[in-house]
Amino acid sequence: EALAFARGENSKTNAYLTFSEERALQTASAVDEKLSRGEAPGALAGVPIAVKDVIVTKGLRTTCGSKMLEHFIPPYDATAVQRLEAAGGVIIGKANCDEFAMGSSNENSAYGPVRNPVALDRVPGGSSGGSAAVVAQGTAAVSLGSDTGGSIRQPASFCGVVGVTPTYGRVSRYGLVAFASSLDHIGPFARNVEDAAILLQTIAGRDPKDATSAFAPVPDYRESLGKDVRGLRVGLPKEYFAHLDSESGDQIHKGIELLKQQGCEIVDVSLPHTDYAVACYYIICTAEASANLARYDGVRYTRRSAQAKTLQDMYRMTRGEGFGAECKRRIMLGTYVLSSGYYDAYYLKAQKVRSLIARDFQQAFTQVDALVTPVSPFPAFKLGEKLDDPIQMYLSDIYTITGDLAGIPCMSVPCGNTAEGLPVGMQILTRHFDESGMFRLASAFE
Ligand code: GLN
Repeated sequence: EALAFARGENSKTNAYLTFSEERALQTASAVDEKLSRGEAPGALAGVPIAVKDVIVTKGLRTTCGSKMLEHFIPPYDATAVQRLEAAGGVIIGKANCDEFAMGSSNENSAYGPVRNPVALDRVPGGSSGGSAAVVAQGTAAVSLGSDTGGSIRQPASFCGVVGVTPTYGRVSRYGLVAFASSLDHIGPFARNVEDAAILLQTIAGRDPKDATSAFAPVPDYRESLGKDVRGLRVGLPKEYFAHLDSESGDQIHKGIELLKQQGCEIVDVSLPHTDYAVACYYIICTAEASANLARYDGVRYTRRSAQAKTLQDMYRMTRGEGFGAECKRRIMLGTYVLSSGYYDAYYLKAQKVRSLIARDFQQAFTQVDALVTPVSPFPAFKLGEKLDDPIQMYLSDIYTITGDLAGIPCMSVPCGNTAEGLPVGMQILTRHFDESGMFRLASAFE
C-alpha cells in the first residue's frame, strides 16, 4: 500500500528514482515472521524508508543521480542500510538527488529535478532533495540523505522537515558513494525530532568497515527530548545574519524569542572566519571530488562509451558522456587546485583556513552550549531561478558549510513559514558528539 501511494505521488514530484517492491516485501515478511515467533521486531518494524541514491543497496539500482551509473547494481549494502533493515525498517525506494550529491536544488540530477511538495513550482533544495521531499509528502516516514556542505539541512529547511547531520565519524560512511570523503556524512530526515533521533540511534556507532567511524558510545537520544532548556546558553553568531532575507529573518527571530521564553540565555558570539567558508569549501570539496570521481573510467562500474576506439578515447568519451556539467566543473576545478605549483596556494591554504574555522567553533563552545542560526539565507526558490549562476547557487550553502568543515553535529528544525507558506528552518549546532544536546534544544521548537 505504501508503495502504491509512493508511486502515485511520484508523478507530481519525481522524488523517487527506483522503487524496491521485492526487497520491501521481503523485509516486511521477515518482520511478520519475527512477530509470529514472539520476537521483538525492532525499533523500526514496518516503517517505510527511502534512501538517497548515493547510498548503495545490494541488488537495487544505485545511480547517484548520474548517467554514469545508470545501470549500476551494487553487490553490497551500506552499513547504515543494513542497520535500518536489521531494526525492521522497510526500504521502499531510492531517492532522487543532485548528480554525485553536487548541488543545492536537485536540478543537477540526470533524471530530472524534484519538485518541492510544499510548492510544486519550487525546488526542494539539494543535494538530498528527493529524501526531503518524500518525507514532506508523506510517502516515506523517514529517509536517509547525505551532507557534505549542507545537503541534508538545506533541503530539510526548504521542505519543512527535520534533517540531521551528525558528528563526522558518528555514522559509518561504508557504502556512501564518495564525493568529498573528509566532509561526507550520512544522516536522517524525519517529520519530527523524535523520529530523527530514533533513526540516528539505529545507524550510529562504530563500524570496522569505515576507519573514520568513531568508537564513541552512542547515548540514548530519546532521553534528551523534551527536557527543560532553562539556563542553556545559546549563541547567535553575528556573521550568520548577514545575507538573510527579511521574511526568513522574521521567522528566525521568532524562533529565538521562543528559546528566550523557555529560559535559554541568548549570547552574541562571533565566528570570525565565516567569510572564508564558501571559498575554502569549494577548494577542498572539488579537490577530493576530482580524486574520488577518477574511478569512473569506463573500465569498472557500468558505463562505457560505445564510440571509443582507443583506450584514451574510452576514458575521455566515457567521462565526457557520463558526467553532467556540474561534475565536470568540479573535476576541473579540483584537478587545478591540486596540481603542482597551485597546491600550496589553494589546497594547502584552504586546509589551514579549515582549521581556523574549526577553531572558531571551539572558541565559541567555551562560552555557549549551542549555536543557532538560519539554515539558508532564503526559502525554497523557483525551479530554474538560479541555474545560470553557479555562484548564486553556491551561496545558498553559506550557513551550512561551516558545520561540515568543522565536523560538528548540526541540524535543521522547522521554524515557521513565510507569508507565502514557504518553510523556514533553524539550524542548531553543538560540540563534537553532543547530538543529545542538539536534540534537546531542537525539541523546544515542537
Ligand atoms: N550544495 C553543496 C554542494 O553543491 C553541498 C552538497 C552536499 O552537501 N552534498 O557542494
